[in-house]
Amino acid sequence: MPELNAAERALYHAFIEQGLTRWLARLPKQLSRGLDRKRHGDLPAWEKAVAKLPPLPDERTVHLDQACVSVEVALPEADRRRCENLLRKLMPWRKGPFSLGGIEIDTEWRSDWKWQRVAPHLSSLKGRRILDVGGGSGYHAWRMAGVDAAFVLVIDPSPRFYYQFQAVRHFIGDADDNRTHFLPVGIEDVPERLEFFDTVFSMGVLYHRPSPLDHLLQLKDALSPGGELVLETLVVEGDASTVFMPGERYAAMPNVYFLPSSAALCHWLTRCGFTDIRVVDEAMTTLDEQRSTDWMSFQSLKDFLDPEDHSRTLEGHPAPRRAVIVARKR
Ligand code: SAH
Repeated sequence: MPELNAAERALYHAFIEQGLTRWLARLPKQLSRGLDRKRHGDLPAWEKAVAKLPPLPDERTVHLDQACVSVEVALPEADRRRCENLLRKLMPWRKGPFSLGGIEIDTEWRSDWKWQRVAPHLSSLKGRRILDVGGGSGYHAWRMAGVDAAFVLVIDPSPRFYYQFQAVRHFIGDADDNRTHFLPVGIEDVPERLEFFDTVFSMGVLYHRPSPLDHLLQLKDALSPGGELVLETLVVEGDASTVFMPGERYAAMPNVYFLPSSAALCHWLTRCGFTDIRVVDEAMTTLDEQRSTDWMSFQSLKDFLDPEDHSRTLEGHPAPRRAVIVARKR
């Protein structure tokens, strides 16, 4: 086995502690594939940026329970500037916001707004074992740790997000008692019939899946009996028989497949064997929630909507509308 770094060691420890033995055996392969330099040309630069973050004083105040995930720590000006330069090497920063040692990372998304729409409707996360599928930079995972989850695992195949997570971890230190982890794999890499997690989140992922019912069944497979699914995805207006499949692109994204109405999505969940299905929120995505910033300088939602009619995408499709659905595994 290759020599492990601190993040990998912590991940192995957590899997052992949690009794995730069947998955543990797959970790070496999954990590080396997820962080394969041959597949991701920029990866060495991201790894180096995280490794070069200067050691921080132990004395710090960490806030995981507020809109901006923040770490207050007194840094000499030279260190602060160095940290900012290194964090900028991980751009674009899409999911946040974070405030790290006085560096304000204003991300493309106000992910705290999504959390606000989701969190009030969930069974308490305290003491729960949680899987966040497609968890991005880990912003929501830190918020879950902030309400005392016992174990939070982000899976996301993006190595850029993996290193953003590790950069934030550098600032947070062990303020979360090392309960929050990131494995750079996709949902398809979760062992079958795991039935382990008390809560499984899938937010912003379903519409990227070419086979959405298989996605729902995979999420169910990861849940323990009685566990809670939290699903957030793009929807369209309509009844239980309405499903929209865009063409090559939707709001400039090339990999968008099925946009059901929330009624249709509830129907899918019923067919997949979920119960207690509740649509807890449905709203249009606003230009204040997703926008270009100093930390994500590419185009954003404003550029993907019809300039004359914001209720339509550039392609003439209904503009992004998102629903949050909570359901239970029997
Ligand atoms: N959950 C976050 C991020 C959504 S963006 C939020 O709601 O804000 C969608 C994420 O899904 C991306 O980070 C992408 O890397 C990830 N993703 C893509 N394919 C995936 C797969 N097969 N399994 C899990 N995650 C995937």
